[in-house]
Amino acid sequence: MEHKLENRTCQNCKVDFTIEPDDFLFYEKIKVPAPTWCPECRMIRRFSHQNTWNLFWRNCDKCGKKTLSMYSSYEKIKVYCQPCWWKDDWDGTEYAMDYDSSRPFLEQVKEIIHKTPYVSLNNLYLMNKNCDYVNSTGQCRDCFMIFWADFCDNVYYSTLLNTLKFSSDCIRGYFSELCYESVGFSRCYRTFFSEECDDCIDVWFSRDCYNCTNCIGCVNLRGESNCIFNIKYTKEEYLEKLKELNLDSWKSLNELKIKSKEFWITKPIRDFHTHSLSVNVSGDYVYESKNSKEMYISNGAEDCKYCQLITVKPVEDCFDYSGWGDNASQIYEGITVGNNSSSVYFSFECWPDSMNLQYCYWNISGKNNLGCVNLKRKQHCILNKEYSKEEFEKLKTEIIEDMKVNPYIDKTGKKFYYGEFFPPEFSLFPYNKSNAMRFFPKTKEEAISLGYEWSDVLNPNHTTTIKASDLPDSILETNDSILNEIIGCRDCGRAYKIVEGELNLLRKMNLPIPHECPKCRENKRFERMDPIKLHKRNCMKCGVGISTPYSKDRPEIVYCAKCYQQEFN
Ligand SMILES: [Zn+2]
Ligand SMILES: [Zn+2]
Ligand SMILES: [Zn+2]
Ligand SMILES: [Zn+2]
Repeated sequence: MEHKLENRTCQNCKVDFTIEPDDFLFYEKIKVPAPTWCPECRMIRRFSHQNTWNLFWRNCDKCGKKTLSMYSSYEKIKVYCQPCWWKDDWDGTEYAMDYDSSRPFLEQVKEIIHKTPYVSLNNLYLMNKNCDYVNSTGQCRDCFMIFWADFCDNVYYSTLLNTLKFSSDCIRGYFSELCYESVGFSRCYRTFFSEECDDCIDVWFSRDCYNCTNCIGCVNLRGESNCIFNIKYTKEEYLEKLKELNLDSWKSLNELKIKSKEFWITKPIRDFHTHSLSVNVSGDYVYESKNSKEMYISNGAEDCKYCQLITVKPVEDCFDYSGWGDNASQIYEGITVGNNSSSVYFSFECWPDSMNLQYCYWNISGKNNLGCVNLKRKQHCILNKEYSKEEFEKLKTEIIEDMKVNPYIDKTGKKFYYGEFFPPEFSLFPYNKSNAMRFFPKTKEEAISLGYEWSDVLNPNHTTTIKASDLPDSILETNDSILNEIIGCRDCGRAYKIVEGELNLLRKMNLPIPHECPKCRENKRFERMDPIKLHKRNCMKCGVGISTPYSKDRPEIVYCAKCYQQEFN
């Protein structure tokens, strides 16, 4: 069928959005109706169902042991610790329900959402080694407080990672080693306090530098070495300057942080972060991707649209998919679906080897399931009840037809027909503890009026034994007794500790111990990333129209790709 671009009004925010001919082709191919919410509302709805970064202590509802959990005790659901949840003595069919054709299907899914036990943390638990304090990870070893990470080794307090080793305090770190306080880097070694640098060694406080060695406070350099604030020195001069900079001192590092930011802003930045291995893409942080539009953090995606947080390639033919990848294809309206998964719609936490799932929550290696929750290694199930292949297909068709005419109606009166992701009120997380808050902060009043929950629960604070201002300035003056101290954060005053592996790593990198708590550090790092929002504006050099995360009121000098490249000729 021939399709034309159509303008529609979002059922949620009432703002107009467009559905392009290619979008219609995708919906037609996977036999779903076109969405009624705009792309941004759809993304926020998905993010609101997930909590990667807020962990609480609660007791396992099976063995009673204290466990770290994504769910605070505020959430009135059953939560098992990881060993209990992953144990083979249950598979989820214990909670099977019969389909009741007189009630909306999603109402019945909601029932099973509240009946079944959840795992405290979201990890490929059986494939991690010595990683008890991590969330949203797989195939990691000896890591502590890392989130959304795969294939990591000895990493601390970091997020959105793939194959990072012996590093701490990073976001979007890929295939790198010995990095600290850096954001967005690939194949780097000893890269500190830097942003958007690839293939760098011994680089500090630098932005958008590729293939550089021994650089400090630099921006937009290619293949350079021995530079400080973009000024080239001889190797001897550089080493002399390096000594004067006192890079082991917390005070000097803090001064350099401010000075480098002031310098970076004087140099142009590209319309959005991508590189020459990406073809026909839009969005931000789009790497090794092809024919993929409106992406945010995309690595190795092809023929995708409106996707976010793809940290592990490859990903193919996905729309409205919020991570994480690792061989995912034809995912629509999905979050944390991946690791050899295909044809999964309106679902989240379905991995590994998942196939043909719809309206599923937490299905491990599920195939051909509909409306199943906390189900492990099962096929042809509806509401956790097993059917023969023939019975399943027949009932599935009947339910989908019914969902097209009998919607679930939420407490704000919004209708959810077949083709919509789960309603916001199905989320097990209060809005302010969910990933939606991380990228789209809302006030308590706004969130509640949209049908979300809110929670003011905080982890208990501890009495501190030392103030951040009394910490030693250099790691050389720091002895092992720091491991026994409870430090009061410089910014928020809350208590935090230094753990042994972290101290060893800081010694290896010759860096001082941090003066802020992990949460304040994490928040500040996220502020160093661009928001998930594109603005139409013009290149500040040639005037050509660009789509960029930098709105007009931002201080950056924003160039189109062509003008930015000319800076290097
Ligand atoms: Zn909207
Ligand atoms: Zn347990
Ligand atoms: Zn703090
Ligand atoms: Zn231009």
